[in-house]
Amino acid sequence: MLDVIAFDADDTLWHNETLYSKTQSRFRDLLARYEQADWSEQALYETEMRNLRFYGYGIKSFGLSMIETAIKLTGGRIQARDIQAIIDLIKEMLQAPVQLLDHVEDIIPALAADHTLMLITKGDLLDQEAKIARSDLGPYFAHVEIVPDKNAEVYRSILDRHGIRPERFLMVGNSLRSDILPVIAVGGQAVHVPYHLTWAHETVSEQNPASGSYVVLEHLGQLPATIGKLQGEAP
Ligand SMILES: [Mg+2]
Repeated sequence: MLDVIAFDADDTLWHNETLYSKTQSRFRDLLARYEQADWSEQALYETEMRNLRFYGYGIKSFGLSMIETAIKLTGGRIQARDIQAIIDLIKEMLQAPVQLLDHVEDIIPALAADHTLMLITKGDLLDQEAKIARSDLGPYFAHVEIVPDKNAEVYRSILDRHGIRPERFLMVGNSLRSDILPVIAVGGQAVHVPYHLTWAHETVSEQNPASGSYVVLEHLGQLPATIGKLQGEAP
């Protein structure tokens, strides 16, 4: 039996990484106007990683890291109007329409009819709440957890708080690092549905120690059948 089926949100229920990658290419175009600006995706990524401990995940953090990277790469020559352009990019991202992935509109209401669904997402509270509201999926989830990070401790505390036995908990998500490996580590079950783009920070080395202990699906349309199978197997 499964007591709770939990879903990641970004790049599991709706498109997210595509928005970041589009913004990043506009950021690159903006910096290309500075002749000496030595653009590198690596520089932005390194700034984001350094800033995680200050700002956490999310669009606003990404924006501050773009501004910091622009100042650094242009040697301080970036103009105020271009900083404004970066701020405008961020505001655009924050208001971008939520585009659901294929099958989500069908499977979430169907699963919610006879399962307890939970949403577990990390990032900026205000932005994630706004996206859940814009997605119209909120009512299908009995519980929504917006957490600063998704590691084994965080999953353990969510399970404890809701009184869920790990073996009766299933997590569905696109990130091995955030949605699958920590859930397996606490004794839960997991279904990995990879998205075509993965942020470098979420990638896991080829030596995946938990490989074989979770299910991998091509798309969410395959999930109901998998859940039916797991329902029969789970203790
Ligand atoms: Mg995700």
